[in-house]
Amino acid sequence: MTHKILVSDGLSEDGLALLKTGGEVVANSKITADELIATLGEYHALVVRSRTKVNAKVIAAGTNLKVVGRAGVGVDNIEVAAAVAKGITVVNSPMAASVSVAEHTLALMLALARTVAAADASIKQGKWEKSAFMGAELSGKTLGLLGLGRIGALVANRAAAFGMTVVAYDPYLDETQIRERHADPGTFDEVIAQADYLSMHLPLTKETSGLLGAAQFATMKKGARLVCAARGGVIDEDALRAALDSGQLAGAALDVFTNEPPQPNSIAAHPKVVATPHIGAQTAEAQTRAGKAIAEEVLAVLAGKEPRWKVTSNE
Ligand code: NAD
Repeated sequence: MTHKILVSDGLSEDGLALLKTGGEVVANSKITADELIATLGEYHALVVRSRTKVNAKVIAAGTNLKVVGRAGVGVDNIEVAAAVAKGITVVNSPMAASVSVAEHTLALMLALARTVAAADASIKQGKWEKSAFMGAELSGKTLGLLGLGRIGALVANRAAAFGMTVVAYDPYLDETQIRERHADPGTFDEVIAQADYLSMHLPLTKETSGLLGAAQFATMKKGARLVCAARGGVIDEDALRAALDSGQLAGAALDVFTNEPPQPNSIAAHPKVVATPHIGAQTAEAQTRAGKAIAEEVLAVLAGKEPRWKVTSNE
């Protein structure tokens, strides 16, 4: 039987080429939610990134669907339980983008510390405002990490090279594992209170939704800076705005937002925010790795083999 594979958010050339060895591939990265529901019944595999929302309605429309592949790590756009209940396997490619996201996190931290974006905008307006852009060093500062998995560990390692002290909270790792990942273990409250820079590297789950809000910002050091290249929903953006307006936080660098793309006048437009449009994984290297890895996973499932990266829940 020829398998039909729908790629609905774009995929690297290498990934598409590999998928084509295992079936007929249709790539349509502009497909709407309604079109997806209307046509999904023809397909045996659906490959997405973060744009396509694979909710229960979409799953129900996938009457011949065997596998949903997420090129990347976060599966918060996929209702995994609905898929599993229908016997549809969900796979992802969790390793592909870790280095890229970690490097982007450091780029955001440095951009915050040295006001890179504002200084660039100023010089492009013909100004030369040296004294307006007084920066701060990363060296000697404390980086607090919430989540010390693949990306968090790479960030810890890189921050240590910058001379930072790293403290981390991850309730699913023991103290030894945290120390092995170049960080000192701390409780959630300790990490928040000690951080000069606080960076989030945890998934968006019921437990982490709105994890940082007014109460947490109030206990941070005055003038601390926040970095988030995890998922938008982990931060209460209204509370963040208030913390920036009051000066409790000196700045925030965000790659992810509660609504993407964010609305005009959202937190992304705040003058103390450095914002990027969810590009943590957007490197040639990460996309090539993710495309190839997800193609291998999807083809494995279609061939009746056990995939390496099966996702069984949204938790
Ligand atoms: P991972 O699963 O390797 O690590 C996540 C860590 O978070 C785990 O160690 C887990 O124990 C920990 N964790 C879970 N709940 C927690 C909680 N309540 N408090 C503290 N820690 C908690 O995942 P990863 O590959 O490191 O990715 C981390 C997140 O980065 C992803 O879930 C995704 O949301 C985000 N991400 C963003 C981009 C981007 O483009 N900006 C790209 C890839 C991943």
